[in-house]
Amino acid sequence: MTKPKRDAKDAALFAVQKLREAGHAAVFAGGCVRDMLLGKEPKDYDVATDATPDQVKRLFPRARKVGAQFGVMLLRKYGHDVEVATFRTDGDYADGRHPERVEFRSREEDARRRDFTINGMFYDPIAEQVIDDVGGQEDLKNRIVRTIGPPEERFAEDHLRMLRAVRFAARLGFSIESRTLAAIKRHAHRLPAISAERVYMEFQQIMTDPSRVVAWLLLLETRLRAYLCPDWPADERADAMAGKRLKALPPSHIDESLALAALLPVGATKLASAICHSLRVSNRLREAVVWLTASLGKIQADRITEPADLKMLMAHEEWRNLLDLLRADETALQRGSDRYDALVTRADAVPPDQIAPPPLLNGEDLLGMGIPEGPELGRILRAVYRAQLNQAIRTRNEASALVRELR
Ligand code: ATP
Ligand code: MG
Repeated sequence: MTKPKRDAKDAALFAVQKLREAGHAAVFAGGCVRDMLLGKEPKDYDVATDATPDQVKRLFPRARKVGAQFGVMLLRKYGHDVEVATFRTDGDYADGRHPERVEFRSREEDARRRDFTINGMFYDPIAEQVIDDVGGQEDLKNRIVRTIGPPEERFAEDHLRMLRAVRFAARLGFSIESRTLAAIKRHAHRLPAISAERVYMEFQQIMTDPSRVVAWLLLLETRLRAYLCPDWPADERADAMAGKRLKALPPSHIDESLALAALLPVGATKLASAICHSLRVSNRLREAVVWLTASLGKIQADRITEPADLKMLMAHEEWRNLLDLLRADETALQRGSDRYDALVTRADAVPPDQIAPPPLLNGEDLLGMGIPEGPELGRILRAVYRAQLNQAIRTRNEASALVRELR
């Protein structure tokens, strides 16, 4: 008989046991407790303890410091990561972004520094008992997202919590408690004070999740939408269209590129690029979003006429996303799926080896023909490849003849 595979929970349990044997308090904390109580598989199991980071290090010599200033240690067991964090408070927040300093404190105080009651519970995996100092179980039962303590204060401390409230409410299908919701509306304009990277990290999780439609409506209702990014003006009609597109996308987890492209006005490539820039996304993601926006614009303007146009779309790694985006856009426009159907029919007729055949001529060949390096060479190269995709030329000789013609 093979040994049963140890999972992430076993790894966290191992850490708890070892800490307890050394005389420390140690429990599961935060999101994993919430998910366990909801009967969902937690993404990861976090351990909280009264042992200091140094004491944790002594018990687990190979543990690494992550966020050392917060007293979080990362250890690996059975192939899984476990975060072991020392009970702490977050001291003062000077800027609505980062605590000035952390102090190691009691479990009760650690619960109170957490954002929402549903995220503020602990679980003793040995006694199999929930430890709830903040009323989390009650709110979980009533399906409510509520800050721990006065919402005004908690959102003033850390503005990102406003987006986190939207994320949890949408993802879990919970409502945001009325005072918490009112406080978000009042504080929404402060979102730009936090770094674009932190905002995007949260926004990306919100928009790629199957719950993105509910989340988008919450972002609009709370006015957080208007403060996501300075280059992205809130426009009621455009935002309503975006919502319809989101709704018509596949009801699964979707790629970031598709989510962003669905939110942006069709064909507005400059705007898309500027927004991606100020959201601080990677170049690769920005290029994907701009390509989707541009390509959808071309399809909707009936500008995919030649076989080469079609094949170049099909050869792109975002092609599947483009099809999903097109269908969603047509649904949002309520005008049937004519362009989608036509494009798919045309695409199905292209033999796979003709989508992106190796070029008949490359840059070297053109240099060899005496064409100097520069924009001219690029232009000719592209024109020859287009002709090849259109099957107007089929051999290297024909390609060379075309080059001479184009010069
Ligand atoms: P997920 O399943 O998405 O990971 P999670 O609840 O585990 O949800 P994390 O972002 O991983 O969320 O954070 C772990 C825990 O740390 C939270 O449950 C919460 O208790 C606390 N926490 C995280 N971010 C904040 C914050 N900005 N303010 C206060 N507490 C926070
Ligand atoms: Mg987590």
